[in-house]
Amino acid sequence: MKPVMKTRINQHFLIDSRVIERIINYANIHKTETILEIGAGFGNLTKKLAAEAANVIAVESDPHLVEALGDLELPNVTIVHGDALKVDFPKFDKVVSNLPYSISSEVTFKLFKHSFELGILMYQYEFAQRMIATPGTKDYGRLSIGIQYFADVKVLEIVPRTAFRPPPEVRSAIVKIVPRPPFLDVVDKDFFFDFVAAVFTQRRKQMKNAIINAAHMLGVKDVKKAVNLLPKDLMHKRPEQLSPEELANLSNLIYEARYDWVWKQENLGPARSL
Ligand code: SAM
Repeated sequence: MKPVMKTRINQHFLIDSRVIERIINYANIHKTETILEIGAGFGNLTKKLAAEAANVIAVESDPHLVEALGDLELPNVTIVHGDALKVDFPKFDKVVSNLPYSISSEVTFKLFKHSFELGILMYQYEFAQRMIATPGTKDYGRLSIGIQYFADVKVLEIVPRTAFRPPPEVRSAIVKIVPRPPFLDVVDKDFFFDFVAAVFTQRRKQMKNAIINAAHMLGVKDVKKAVNLLPKDLMHKRPEQLSPEELANLSNLIYEARYDWVWKQENLGPARSL
């Protein structure tokens, strides 16, 4: 017998054919399209994708499952044996997967480095709730802001534990992801994400304190001056009450304060003359 159980035990394979059928319908696959599948497992979903698409790129890290996928002999499926976080993704039109939940965040942000039309992806339910969360709710935070920066996201359905073998302890959710150009006007995307991460480490504090912490973390030397630049009406709110637009605006102001300082340190004159 093959020594496969050790690597498979943490994974939950989708066995409910009605759920698989609905995933295929949500993806609305055309015969011309290339589909990326991350974590193909035994190929339950892969087979159905292959029947609809021109090509399927099936990424799988477990060598025994790679072997099982090969045994299916699906002519339009290219099996990529490797870690989805490390392998290069070829060009694809849609991504359809029951994801390995341990890499949900990293793999989703990796996807946004590529151009694609649609994602139909299974996540842990709580993670999906954080993806779609809006300001003022308990799930709203850096994940919601980060994901919604790149795409429109919607939970299509909640999937019960019984749809998987072995059944996981948590419920799952099928999420529709439609990438679009960012709607936020940020001077520097990476700085904005760092700013949001820093501010949300103090999510229960008032913004004036969260901002001081963030400014320190982001290397702003004249924190007091930077904080004085900020709109006063926002300072008594908590980070979780601010919209992405308000956070983007604050991030831009802090970025400028930091940039001014760097500029002056280098003795090159005022940054605003640029
Ligand atoms: N798609 C299959 C299904 O629905 O039955 C399997 C889904 S299972 C939740 C996740 C699969 O991802 C497993 O087959 C596991 O071996 C694979 N996997 C886990 N981590 C991975 C990684 N970093 N890169 C690629 N595949 C991974």
